[in-house]
Amino acid sequence: MKNVLVIGAGLSGVTVARQLAHRGCRVTVIDQKNHVGGHCFDYEDSTGIRVHKFGPHIFHTSNKRVTDWLSRFTEWVDYEHRVVAELKSGEFVPFPPNLNTMKFIHSDDIINTFYRPYSEKMWGVTLEEINPNIFHRVPMRQDFEDRYFPKSSFQKFPKYGYTNLVSEILSHKLITVKLGTPFSKEMMFNYDFTFNSMSIDEFFDYKYGMLPYRSIRFHHKVYQVEKLTIFPVVNYTNNSSFTRRTEWKNFPGHGFNGDLTLVTEEEPCDFRDNDFQRYYPISDPKGENRILYNRYKSEIPSNMVFIGRCGMYVYINMDQAISSALSISQKVLLEWGAV
Ligand SMILES: Cc1cc2nc3c(=O)[nH]c(=O)nc-3n(C[C@H](O)[C@H](O)[C@H](O)COP(=O)(O)OP(=O)(O)OC[C@H]3O[C@@H](n4cnc5c(N)ncnc54)[C@H](O)[C@@H]3O)c2cc1C
Repeated sequence: MKNVLVIGAGLSGVTVARQLAHRGCRVTVIDQKNHVGGHCFDYEDSTGIRVHKFGPHIFHTSNKRVTDWLSRFTEWVDYEHRVVAELKSGEFVPFPPNLNTMKFIHSDDIINTFYRPYSEKMWGVTLEEINPNIFHRVPMRQDFEDRYFPKSSFQKFPKYGYTNLVSEILSHKLITVKLGTPFSKEMMFNYDFTFNSMSIDEFFDYKYGMLPYRSIRFHHKVYQVEKLTIFPVVNYTNNSSFTRRTEWKNFPGHGFNGDLTLVTEEEPCDFRDNDFQRYYPISDPKGENRILYNRYKSEIPSNMVFIGRCGMYVYINMDQAISSALSISQKVLLEWGAV
């Protein structure tokens, strides 16, 4: 029986933990936060409305292996994500732009109305630096499709929320969870193997430099009306520092309060200006961040593998995090002759 340490109780870590425990390994999961779920953590606010602490998380996938695996731990609520953008005139139009959007905005203005303000706030650099080719192929739909993820065959919310789902995944007699527990190097000596979802540069004490991330400050507001709009997510096209707002009760199964509504606005920033909260790895045009990542990667100890969004320094959706964690745990178990 192997004794395994998993650093991080996000979806990547808990998927690995469950797969290893299922094969008879004794697994300890640590997280520096005081809750499980990592960045998909959600909770019921004092208003009775469910909030995703780190921004709206929409589960969507076409990966049947992932949905079959997750469905062992949760029931689901149907949902199809649609986003609108609020124009300066106050109208709400479908986003990404489709033929209905064109009734309000001329096609020549699409980039400057929608993509420039959003991208520049999001990444803190000009649109041309992010995507020099954007003007050659304007991202807009030539039909009336208004679903945000039309290609994903499975779009649902876990019925009792993401935190409940993650707790169910961790509910196994061979898994021990230690919250409020930051990783320290001595811990590794107590285990045969470590799966690590912390940022790789942090593990190496930043000896070759720091990998950059974008972060987001969340601003919660309560309005004393039943609803501001019927839309769960509204993208802004204005010049404020906010990119979008989420009105939580407009998601199915996220609670009800007839007297008020809870809204969260997002303000992107550098992660160093937000207490080092790492949300989005940055892919720079010259690939220098990937080079730095690979330099660290070449020094990973033989009894450790890095997993997840920060461990692999790549933006991954939840389904990708789970799919990747299933594959990595399978590979390691095979090497151990445990499957
Ligand atoms: C703002 C935002 C919105 C998103 N929206 C969506 C969406 O709509 N749909 C979707 O599919 N995906 C979405 N994602 C992506 C989703 O959050 C990721 O797929 C998911 O977080 C991946 O899980 P993870 O386990 O790899 O990382 P995380 O969830 O980040 O988990 C890593 C865990 O490791 C812990 N940790 C880190 N360092 C240490 C340390 N030194 N010691 C102990 N513990 C440590 C952290 O506290 C954290 O809990 C979004 C992500 C962000 C940031």
